[in-house]
Amino acid sequence: MKEEIKAYGTVLELIGNTPLIKLNNITEHLKGNFFAKVEAFNPGHSSKDRIALYIIEQAERKGLLSPGDTIIETTSGNTGFSLAMVSIIKGYHCILAVSSKSSKDKIDMLRSMGAKVYVCPAHVAADDDRSYYSVAKRLHEETKGSVYINQYFNELNVDAHYHTTGPEIWEQTGGKITHLVACSGTGGTISGIAKFLKEKNPAIRVLGVDAFGSVLKKYHETKEFDTNEIYPYRIEGLGKNLIPTATDFDVIDKFIKVTDEDSAHTAREIAKREGLFVGYTSGAAFQAVKQFAEEGEFTESSNIVVVFPDHGSRYMSKVFSDDWMNEQGFFDSENIEEIQKIEF
Ligand code: PMP
Repeated sequence: MKEEIKAYGTVLELIGNTPLIKLNNITEHLKGNFFAKVEAFNPGHSSKDRIALYIIEQAERKGLLSPGDTIIETTSGNTGFSLAMVSIIKGYHCILAVSSKSSKDKIDMLRSMGAKVYVCPAHVAADDDRSYYSVAKRLHEETKGSVYINQYFNELNVDAHYHTTGPEIWEQTGGKITHLVACSGTGGTISGIAKFLKEKNPAIRVLGVDAFGSVLKKYHETKEFDTNEIYPYRIEGLGKNLIPTATDFDVIDKFIKVTDEDSAHTAREIAKREGLFVGYTSGAAFQAVKQFAEEGEFTESSNIVVVFPDHGSRYMSKVFSDDWMNEQGFFDSENIEEIQKIEF
């Protein structure tokens, strides 16, 4: 018999179908069974691979894209990386307009993946001609055969998770999930998963994670866009200073806010105690789990799924740097050597 070669056709075939992993140690004082949907297992190391592939393939189906055309987005983060990766395989140009606040590492990483990166001034209003929003819009208008992903205002962002992450979680838990805990940035992840799960079982509780300094929780509770809620914070990808139309607030039961400091410590705890090297918002998500548990959300029979959006390697000079943690005042002691000795 001829030996079959067991290879994937391209890296894109590895997007999605991420594992659900039981959390055994960080949950020791909590009631319930806790499972992490670990999105770092996507080939681009985050949940954004799903939306990059889905939105581009929808555009292809509508005949909006042919090889040699251009994908445009405003992001220096995970979405940029995922779009660059999908563009390489499918033969598109990828243009990313990013803020000058973005780290050199991130810009270098995007350029290494073949993206053309426009660095735009950070401290100008969104409607200023020089802002990364305006630059992306202008490039889209001027570039024939281009698609503007616009993830905060694109329904397809929600659909990607409705068609992939939601069914996977339902399947992986055998329909026994009782609670979903997920971060909200664009809102695509939580809204898409929640929409699917609530169609299957409306009793599933959907719990959102927001940042102090973001408007989402207040808007969910009052339908008021309160600018007093807005102030700078450190966690990237969590919360927002505007209301994204990609968030379906009706399928979210409750939001909770987490601090930069608690989320950072929890991210480090997940690595040390579960052997899962995940990013800052994964720390935020599990920090929210702890706070929801304190509020009495869970019982012994609850099956809680928490989404871990990306990989820890993107935060080496932040959360996983003792120097950075110390600079932020996140360590009580000034003595880093002592801190490094601490065992969880
Ligand atoms: N975590 C990280 C690291 C992210 O980049 C994002 C996306 N902004 C999120 C969480 C939130 O996901 P979503 O945009 O689907 O709400």
